[in-house]
Amino acid sequence: MSDPTREAAFDLLSTVLLRRRSLEEALGALPPLEPRDRAAAHRLAATVLRRCGTLDAVLEPYLRKEPPEPVRLVLRIGAAALLLLDTPSHAAVATAVGLTRRRGLDPFSGLVNAVLRKVAAAGPAALAELDAPRLDTPPWLWTSWGPTARAIATAHQQEAPLDLTLAPGTEPPAEAILLPTGSVRFPAGTRVADIPGFEDGHLWVQDAAAALPARLLAPRPGERIADLCAAPGGKTGQLAAAGAQVTAIERDPTRLARLAENLRRWHLSADLVEADATAWTPPAPLDAVLLDAPCSATGTIRRHPDILHLKRPRDVRALTEQQDALLAAAIGMLRSGGRLVYAVCSLQPEEGSPRIEAALARGGVRLDPFTPEELASLPEARTPEGYLRTHPGLWPDRGGMDGFFAARLIRE
Ligand code: SAM
Repeated sequence: MSDPTREAAFDLLSTVLLRRRSLEEALGALPPLEPRDRAAAHRLAATVLRRCGTLDAVLEPYLRKEPPEPVRLVLRIGAAALLLLDTPSHAAVATAVGLTRRRGLDPFSGLVNAVLRKVAAAGPAALAELDAPRLDTPPWLWTSWGPTARAIATAHQQEAPLDLTLAPGTEPPAEAILLPTGSVRFPAGTRVADIPGFEDGHLWVQDAAAALPARLLAPRPGERIADLCAAPGGKTGQLAAAGAQVTAIERDPTRLARLAENLRRWHLSADLVEADATAWTPPAPLDAVLLDAPCSATGTIRRHPDILHLKRPRDVRALTEQQDALLAAAIGMLRSGGRLVYAVCSLQPEEGSPRIEAALARGGVRLDPFTPEELASLPEARTPEGYLRTHPGLWPDRGGMDGFFAARLIRE
């Protein structure tokens, strides 16, 4: 019997965990599937990636020796279905055994059957004694997050809600929760295409924290602003909707095409330039620059749990060099008195304040701290230096938010 959901989940997990490709890339490489099967496979694979440490700890007592990697993937899929996704026991075990056979792993079908029956018998009580936030977080990330590690890792256990930015003058959709920062929120799993107003382009998907950097740049109508590293364009949209004359710089042509399509859907316009932002020079000095720099993206783990498995400390080190180069280029684009907001969707300390301190040490700019009034709707995210620091553990009763660092500089 075919089982497209589990087949696709297995393929997604092999691509991410064995071939070290992103989940997005793995989704792009799937064969054509019914949308329902595709969504179910995505959810199953994301659950395994999010809760991998916990699942391995549950399986551990029943494995006398290390099974081959593909067999471990089947066991994780089966255990996730049993303990985290409420699949009836007989179905979860039988589909895992079927998957083992179809993947040519016949000699292990007895093992898969026996282990998953034991997991089913133990039931969700097997999870009760485990420190899931810790087990599901690679030690280097846990250490790097310091005292906030537990709050962050606890928030990572859940899927993120769906947040939207409204174009100015747009009424919030009837069932939306209005957040204090101005974004609106729907529960995790909501399909954006089902939300009234989405097709008309009056709102777009953007996490509540991701909406803050463009607001903190405080764009004014007619100002000449560059949005560096712009695709898919959530921040370009905010700047253009505020009436600024925006130039969006993006080096990846496929992503730039997506940005163009998004702007069309939102009825907004900007000059689009395919370029490396470190090599681009504006025709005349600019009033403001928004630099949403490429980063480790550890602030988006709730939406992209593959990051837990793919990022390494050395990636962060390499990214900080790019961030410094982009910051220097961005400062060079500004007129005297012009302002720059630097932002990263990262939780890694190295990608935050040290980058700003390095820019200040190079000279030609001063820090323009975010004021308590600017962050009155989110005072817990303002650091003593006047930076923005959000993380998924903030707003625990509302469903958290992505992790962002942002700071504002003024060209002297
Ligand atoms: N600002 C975007 C938004 O709000 O929708 C998200 C930007 S995403 C964090 C980073 C983007 O930067 C990617 O699309 C990547 O291709 C682009 N990028 C990375 N390095 C770049 C560079 N040196 N110049 C231009 N674009 C770059």
